[in-house]
Amino acid sequence: MKTLLLALLVGCVSCRPESREKRYDGHQVLKVFPNLLENFKNIEALGEKYNLDFWHHPKHQNGTFDIQVSPDQITDVLNDLKLLGADTSVWIQDLQSIIDEAKPSDRQERAAGMISMQHYHSYAQINGFLSAIAASNSHATVYKLGTSLQGRSINLIRFSTGTTSSGAHKRSIFMDGGIHAREWIAPAVVLYMIDQLANNPNNDPDIASLLDKFDFYLVPLVNPDGYEYTRSGDRMWRKNMASSYGTHHSIFGRCGSDEMGVDLNRNFGHHWNPGNGGSYDQCQETYAGPHALSEPETQAMAHAIDSVASHALVYLNIHSYGQYMIYPWGYTAQLPPDAADLDHLGRVAANAIYHTHGHRYTVGEDTVVLYAAAGGADDYAKGHSGIKYAYTVEMGDTGRYGFLLPESYIQSSGEEIWAGVKAMAKELIQKYSL
Ligand SMILES: [Zn+2]
Repeated sequence: MKTLLLALLVGCVSCRPESREKRYDGHQVLKVFPNLLENFKNIEALGEKYNLDFWHHPKHQNGTFDIQVSPDQITDVLNDLKLLGADTSVWIQDLQSIIDEAKPSDRQERAAGMISMQHYHSYAQINGFLSAIAASNSHATVYKLGTSLQGRSINLIRFSTGTTSSGAHKRSIFMDGGIHAREWIAPAVVLYMIDQLANNPNNDPDIASLLDKFDFYLVPLVNPDGYEYTRSGDRMWRKNMASSYGTHHSIFGRCGSDEMGVDLNRNFGHHWNPGNGGSYDQCQETYAGPHALSEPETQAMAHAIDSVASHALVYLNIHSYGQYMIYPWGYTAQLPPDAADLDHLGRVAANAIYHTHGHRYTVGEDTVVLYAAAGGADDYAKGHSGIKYAYTVEMGDTGRYGFLLPESYIQSSGEEIWAGVKAMAKELIQKYSL
């Protein structure tokens, strides 16, 4: 008992060093082929045993688990996988070198609002950009949805040119990014779309007609605390910065008091269930929180989604990676009654994405395409709020950089997702005679 207490005390000396960057020298990311159906559960159990970070779950029997492993675990984990009869190959030999390779370019802070779409930006730069747009664009308004655990504003920007000719509220499209801190391409692409709507840099004739038919609601950074932490502390952080639902210390592995947080995309309140694709264990990357909507970030988003629900047609919760366009339900393999409609519109988007830069997106239901994940934002938007076309978008890539997509990919990612959104909007204008 004394040893355990001492270990906990020593562990707490290094409580989340915000200013010191966590390094991943010698950490590997494995591609693990389960081979046998029963191995899906066995490999997930190994994840719990070693507190492994699963970057990706397979979407079918021939898919792979992408699993990050620390140097001190690698021999044991490989031995256990071999005993299970799973095949493995090393995808990333040294995670730190990929982090270094994909690091944002060093540059001077620009004046507020003058941000480039070619770079990843800080929380402050993102908010400066939103404020500058709201100040200069008569259709744009910034709303504060709530405050994160560490006191940062969660902001939404709305683009609206007014009501319809008959005075009704226009149909709306709601998109957000950055719910998972390390998926930097998601906020970058939401910013890209904000730039398109605000500044129309390519003189795109579609922008005016889109704004004539739809209001757009965009939240570039759902999880600002986690995002800032990935910039200065731990590039691989996924969750928010909740520090102490603290009875959940894992008896197994690396998790200590500096490894807390809630997976915000397991914390929403439609059939919330940590046992279904999430975790009860705060050490795990998919910890679902102590109860549904326990976090200020999810509370703010749930309120925002609810408040647009009466007129919103589309909700996109934007992530990386894997190239998927997936729709509810995440909590059950059962399909919603209008699944054919969601599937069709998802394919319209995927087709437009493919014709932009040749990237193929897989379309399907959450549970069928990926794996069960209760408590997701898309399930909430559809199941609780009633927004018909709710999707989780997993952007690129499919296996070179994973979460660590370099800045040089922002432009092409923005172009293809925006093409997908425009194609959906055009399809809905036809379908609903807007
Ligand atoms: Zn994600």
